[in-house]
Amino acid sequence: MTGFFRQVADYTQNAISAGKYLLQGLAVTFDHMGRRPITVQYPYEKLIPSERYRGRIHYEFDKCIACEVCVRVCPINLPVVDWVMNKETKKKELRNYSIDFGVCIFCGNCVEYCPTNCLSMTEEYELASFDRHSLNFDNVALGRLPTSVTTDPSVKPLRELGYLPQGIMDPHEVPNKDPRAGKLPAEVLDWMKQESSKEGEIASISNTKEEVN
Ligand code: SF4
Ligand code: SF4
Repeated sequence: MTGFFRQVADYTQNAISAGKYLLQGLAVTFDHMGRRPITVQYPYEKLIPSERYRGRIHYEFDKCIACEVCVRVCPINLPVVDWVMNKETKKKELRNYSIDFGVCIFCGNCVEYCPTNCLSMTEEYELASFDRHSLNFDNVALGRLPTSVTTDPSVKPLRELGYLPQGIMDPHEVPNKDPRAGKLPAEVLDWMKQESSKEGEIASISNTKEEVN
């Protein structure tokens, strides 16, 4: 008999939990129902890519030792490392390096395993081209410093996908007093400053506690 009551109690508890999770999910849905999605006015507005965004690869020719680790770890052996052996110094001499972004899958393996860290992934994603051959970047093209959404004066960077305020259907009709989706660079900077000062306060409190202990 005790077993039966335990089963009923477990069942009821599971049913309550399931109901709770269901309501939590529906709360998110209902919260978004009254809002309208906003269109990013690309190319005048751009979303700031996330911190670990895997965009166009940047390459530093001077740091490369032509070890070809990047070729071996690449799932499609994509990077082309063009080198010759200098018979006098008995060392490799790098001539050229290229990656074809028409084929690259931006997995980041080459960046991860490069022993000299001469490869890095940038936040650059605008690689569209009329000619697929122009996507084959040589060491000069790969060495170009990446553009950044936050430092480009011609675009308005948006921090994240936002929604229009309730009842507003057209993004251009958002009243000035209403908070706009996304943040301007100055606002992002303020937010970062506030966050860092908060972190500093927390660190100083924990340090004080440790000293007291
Ligand atoms: S792994 Fe790095 S150092 Fe080695 S060849 Fe590739 S880019 Fe150059
Ligand atoms: S990102 Fe991946 S696919 Fe592209 S070159 Fe590097 S290892 Fe190869």
